[in-house]
Amino acid sequence: MKGVIPYNGFVKVIERQNPEIIESSDAIIRVTRSAICTSDFHIINNAVPRYVPDTILGHEFVGEVVETGSSVSKLKVGDRVAANCITFCGECYFCRHGFINNCIKGGWELGCRIDGGQAEYVRVPYADMGLNKIPDNVSFDSALFVGDILSSGYFAADGIKNGDTVAVIGAGPVGLCSMMCARYLGAKKVIAIDIDNARLEFAKQFADYTINPQSENIEQTIHEITKYGADYVIEAAGGNDTFETAWKIARANAVVFVVAMYETPQILPLNIMYGKNLTFKTGGVDAVYCDKLLQLISEGKISTDFLISKTFPFERVEDAYREFSKKEIYKVVLEY
Ligand SMILES: [Zn+2]
Ligand SMILES: [Zn+2]
Repeated sequence: MKGVIPYNGFVKVIERQNPEIIESSDAIIRVTRSAICTSDFHIINNAVPRYVPDTILGHEFVGEVVETGSSVSKLKVGDRVAANCITFCGECYFCRHGFINNCIKGGWELGCRIDGGQAEYVRVPYADMGLNKIPDNVSFDSALFVGDILSSGYFAADGIKNGDTVAVIGAGPVGLCSMMCARYLGAKKVIAIDIDNARLEFAKQFADYTINPQSENIEQTIHEITKYGADYVIEAAGGNDTFETAWKIARANAVVFVVAMYETPQILPLNIMYGKNLTFKTGGVDAVYCDKLLQLISEGKISTDFLISKTFPFERVEDAYREFSKKEIYKVVLEY
C-alpha cells in the first residue's frame, strides 16, 4: 500500500506492507478520506520530539473497517468510522476520569509514533475506544474533523453558559470550530479576533463582531461591546502576545480557555491580575465527545463542511501539501 512520510523538509509517498492486526483490540481501516493538519508540518520541521522517524503521517481520517481483532466488540467489518486523534485504552486512571489525553498507554500515537491515516490502510489500536461509528446520514467528508479540530473546538467551548459573550482569539480551523460550538452552547454574542482580515470576514458566519488588533485598540473595542470584558475567552491563536490579550479582555471572574499551542513560555502576571479572580483552563484536547459531535452533525445542529477548502485525490498528496503550506486555505482533504 501507499503511505506518506516526511522527507527532506517535505513529504514523499512510499510503498509499505499493508498493516496487520497485532493486538486483539486492533482494527484495520481502509481509509476513505484523510486531512493534512498543521501538526504534520511540525513533524516535517522536526519540531515534534515524540515523532518516530519514518512513521506514516496522518491523525485525521475516516474510513471503513476491514478487519477486527478478537476482542473488538463495538465494531464490525464494513462499519463506517471516524478516528479519534488520541489513542486511549479506556481503562487507566486518566481514561476512567475522561482525561484521555493523558492515557498512560496512549496519547498522540497515530501519525506520530505508529503509522497514521495518510495511507490506504491503517491499524488503529484500542479500536473500540479510538473509532466512532458514523451515522448513516453523515458523509465521510462531514465526519472527517470530528476526532481532532472539532473536538478541540468543542473542548474549548464546553463550559460556556447561556447568554455569555464569548471572545475567540484566532480564526483558524480550531478557532472557527470553537465559535460554532459557542453558538450551539448558547453564547449570546461571539467576538472573533485575528490579525488576518480575510479570516475575520470568513468568521462572520459565526461571529457578531470581528476585531483586528493591528488596526484597532482591542481592549477599548471589547469594552465598547461588553462593558466589563468578555464572559468567556478562548485563546486559539498561540501568537506572541495572544495569551496576554486573552486575560486582559476577560471580565473579572471570567473563564480563559487556552487551547493554543505555544513555542515559547508565557507570562502569567499574578501580581497584576490579583482580584480579577479568573479561571484558567489549559491543554490538549480530551477528545471524549466524538459520538456526541457525530450525533449533532447527523441532526444538522453543527457542521464542519465549511472548513474544506480543497480536495485532492490521494495520488496527488504532494500537491495537497504544497497547497496547504501556503496557509491561505483552511483544510485540504485527500480523497481515496
Ligand atoms: Zn491535528
Ligand atoms: Zn488509558
